Amino acid sequence: MTTADGAPAVPIADLFIDGKWCEGATGERFPVTDPSDGTTVAEFAVASDADCDAALEAAASAFPAWSATSPRARSEVLRRAFEILTAEADILAEIIVRENGKAWSDARAEATYATEFFRWFAEEAVRVPGEYRLSPAADKRIIVTHQPIGVSVLITPWNFPAAMATRKLAPALAAGCTTVLKPARETPLTAAYIVDAIARAGVPAGVVNLVTPKASGPAVTRMLAHPAVRKLSFTGSTEVGRTLLKQAADRVVSTSMELGGNAPLIVLPGADLDMAVEGAYIAKMRNGGSACTSANRFYVHDSLHDDFVEKLGNRLAAVVVGSGLDPANEVGALVSLYERDKVAELVDTAVGEGARVAVGGTKSETGAFYAPTLLTDVRHGSTINRSEIFGPVSAIVRFTEVDEAVSLANDSEAGLMAYVFGEEGQSIRLAQRLNAGMVAVNRGVVSDPAAPFGGTKQSGLGREGSSEGILEFLETQYIAVDA
Ligand code: NAP
Repeated sequence: MTTADGAPAVPIADLFIDGKWCEGATGERFPVTDPSDGTTVAEFAVASDADCDAALEAAASAFPAWSATSPRARSEVLRRAFEILTAEADILAEIIVRENGKAWSDARAEATYATEFFRWFAEEAVRVPGEYRLSPAADKRIIVTHQPIGVSVLITPWNFPAAMATRKLAPALAAGCTTVLKPARETPLTAAYIVDAIARAGVPAGVVNLVTPKASGPAVTRMLAHPAVRKLSFTGSTEVGRTLLKQAADRVVSTSMELGGNAPLIVLPGADLDMAVEGAYIAKMRNGGSACTSANRFYVHDSLHDDFVEKLGNRLAAVVVGSGLDPANEVGALVSLYERDKVAELVDTAVGEGARVAVGGTKSETGAFYAPTLLTDVRHGSTINRSEIFGPVSAIVRFTEVDEAVSLANDSEAGLMAYVFGEEGQSIRLAQRLNAGMVAVNRGVVSDPAAPFGGTKQSGLGREGSSEGILEFLETQYIAVDA
């Protein structure tokens, strides 16, 4: 990271509590590592229980005033945050690359996507809907309004450290809620930079707080027991999501859950092969495969299978892999050696279960890199087909009947994302038979702040972005008045 005069800049690595950057009560720190070479990027402050309590209390104290601020005033803070981060998108992208390892193009795209949530929710802050009507019996007027839900705990993963934070912070602030953000341990620096941008945009003290406890499990359990907390918005694995749903039940805390995916990608007979290959490449390789929306289970019609494998294989074999700090590298590192080894293990298991490695299948000696990989002869129901790979591995299953592809695609606990390539009308009709919260037709990416993001089945509850995202932080209130 460099400053305007070219000197190396030290990223913020502290807690943010009640409008102040602070070290944390214990003075302890943990290293944030660059996964491409294992070097330490920064030592981040550990938040103790007392620090987490202080953050929640600051959020509780700030809530009455912030929730009473005019929607226009809140909108303007968000708009300024959008402008600040737009001007500083390269710095934000560099922080993302340093701690997450992803390719420069992915990090730069994430910086823009993340920043757009501030612009979108600056616009939504002033458009919260309401209702006023006569009851059917004509005995009263029905007024429906929305109130900010209260102190919100926001928990984010490492794979999109900027966008997953802004997709929660922006609607929460727009709605009038106050927040405590807990980012993933691997990527706190990006979260700190975003929180700093919001502070510079003029958000009052206590409205946004940032904590990084040493052990998330016990710390979050404790936070959810705090009487001020009314909302938990979580993005992460289904496994942790399930645990948090149970914990939220104790105090009937409202939850929004953006959980894991296992996206099918269907190539129908008659699909434009080049379009399908390019779309599949993007759907798989964006973010190096570490996306909840990543195409995971490829179902390719028999008539196109061999050509598809050859063309996608050639494309993957030509990918340049390396540090995200060099923009020429198309795919960066995975977030950790642990994640790299998890991907390697899944590929080894797939081979043991009969899959064939057509391209790749190797991990780096140093750094958390895994080669773009194409597996053929993968069996539906095999371990890799049932797992969220979270790495650059395309696992191909062949099918013969369209109805068969639909039932194979729907045969999963996950229901976040699906992709269909084929004649447009047929693909849209088929999309409606897929049990997924989002379906991309003849394209490799769907994410847009203006569109509802979220899943069905065990991929989650609720939606982020769009006009629905702000409703997750509002409670409906009905007022009855004599007619
Ligand atoms: P994860 O292990 O579930 O962690 C996510 C967050 O939860 C991190 O901040 C983590 O903190 C925290 N956490 C872990 N254990 C916890 C516990 N027992 N109680 C409370 N918090 C806890 O997920 P990940 O590996 O970071 O992210 C990958 C997963 O996220 C994938 O399954 C992916 O599909 C999913 N994801 C979903 C979406 C979506 O929109 N549906 C978007 C992105 C990612 P620590 O880091 O400190 O452990």
